[in-house]
Amino acid sequence: MFDKNTSYTNENIELFVDDANIALHEQHNGFGKRKIEKSKPDHEIKWSNCLTVIRDNITENPFKTWFIPLKPLRYERDTLTLKVPSQFFLEWIEENYYDLLQKTVFNVFGENTLLDFEIVVEKASNTLEERTIKVDGKNQQKSLSFDIEKKTEDEYPETLNSRYQFDNFVIGDSNQLASSATQAVSEKPLHNRYCPLFIYGNSGLGKTHLLQAIGNSVRRNEPKLKVLYLSSEKFYTDFIDSIRDNKVSKFMAFYRNIDVLLIDDIHILAGKDKTQDNFFYIFNALYQAGKLIVITSDRSPVELKDIDNRLISRFQQGLCVDIKPPEFETRVAIILKKAKDEGIEIPMDVVSFIAQNVVNNVRQLEGTLISILAKVAFDHRQLNVELAREVIGANNVSSEEKVLTIDVIKQLVSNHYSIHIDEMESLSRKHEIALARQMAMYLGKKLTMLSLKKIGAAFGKRDHSTVLHSIKTIDNYIFTDPVVKKDCRVLTDKCQEYL
Ligand code: ADP
Ligand code: MG
Repeated sequence: MFDKNTSYTNENIELFVDDANIALHEQHNGFGKRKIEKSKPDHEIKWSNCLTVIRDNITENPFKTWFIPLKPLRYERDTLTLKVPSQFFLEWIEENYYDLLQKTVFNVFGENTLLDFEIVVEKASNTLEERTIKVDGKNQQKSLSFDIEKKTEDEYPETLNSRYQFDNFVIGDSNQLASSATQAVSEKPLHNRYCPLFIYGNSGLGKTHLLQAIGNSVRRNEPKLKVLYLSSEKFYTDFIDSIRDNKVSKFMAFYRNIDVLLIDDIHILAGKDKTQDNFFYIFNALYQAGKLIVITSDRSPVELKDIDNRLISRFQQGLCVDIKPPEFETRVAIILKKAKDEGIEIPMDVVSFIAQNVVNNVRQLEGTLISILAKVAFDHRQLNVELAREVIGANNVSSEEKVLTIDVIKQLVSNHYSIHIDEMESLSRKHEIALARQMAMYLGKKLTMLSLKKIGAAFGKRDHSTVLHSIKTIDNYIFTDPVVKKDCRVLTDKCQEYL
């Protein structure tokens, strides 16, 4: 499939430049042609001619960087197959030089020529890794085939929960589109025009359920496909681990080998730039190969904050659907379905009472029902409206209000900086601990009505002048340090959700 003895050394580069020069020379002088035709296949000569044209159209550096390493592997049935050294390389060419490349190839090889690429990845040692990825050009159907190290089953961790199926997902107006779209992609996972499918909506409305249902359905219908469901948090921590263990390329190779990538809660990657970069490359590789990518988020792509614009525009390339809180009829249907699954008959007045009082979140609806049924089973209570009222009142489920307290701020800052709350309250002056503490005090002053004294008291009995100093320090940082400025913005956004 590829020439194992070839690597991109300087010698090769010169050879290619020479080829181009010879071809150029031939065109101008009309001699030496026969000799070259004898020693080289026709498609290589033509490719040299292409290089000459391309060289005339772009500057020297990009020419050397992006075109010299391309190698014509074969020309068969009107298709020119070029070897490229990496996925990234291919994407760059496609994004920046595809028109030039295609026009030149049309001119030299003929108007009907199709372009095809094979990625041949080199190891750092300069020996070729046994890996070829075939990727068709933009003008054809896309396919990706790996003939490298077959992954063993346990490298695809079983993260699917069989509880989440399409059959037990209750459909109503609020989730109709999301439900149809997820079923459509699971019926035809590869080369689906809805890819990437982006599902967004508030917490507890069934995003994970549908995402996992796709995975379960594909596993059942097409067991050969490699399905991976994972949270964005897991993607992030795995990526960090791979950096720590110096295994980033293995990490990337693993993801690129997947047929159906189901990635939950992408908003978690906000501000994690390096992880986003890598997700971007994986996304492109899978997308170009016609693999299925389904993403969930708590908000629409345009509303995502601190996510790279390149990713946001990729997310908009396919189909975006939202899930809204279920309307009354759907809430009733969900309660009835869940009760039936538990083998319980539930009086209609109790069903309506629950549906009227738990409105925003299916998870809470489920939780309420389970609590009620537990009381019936263990406390031998009557299944009636009174019991439902008691449970809903006790769980305070209908009150969705979130309140921004200093404790919430401390928790958000603690999560953001990975600094324990105890450390923020301690006397430590270590820079990262002091910064987290100052940031929490700053947000406390900016976003709550608390006095400096009360804020100070929440951080190990510090006095109001310490709080004032912290606020000034963060104010200064905002002008001088872009990292702290960004931290402050991200944390303010998180706090705003409680306002
Ligand atoms: P999200 O990922 O949007 O936060 P989940 O998918 O985790 O929400 O859903 C929360 C719970 O509600 C899960 O147990 C899920 O099975 C259930 N659920 C959500 N929507 C429905 C629905 N339409 N029909 C049946 N169960 C649902
Ligand atoms: Mg979820």
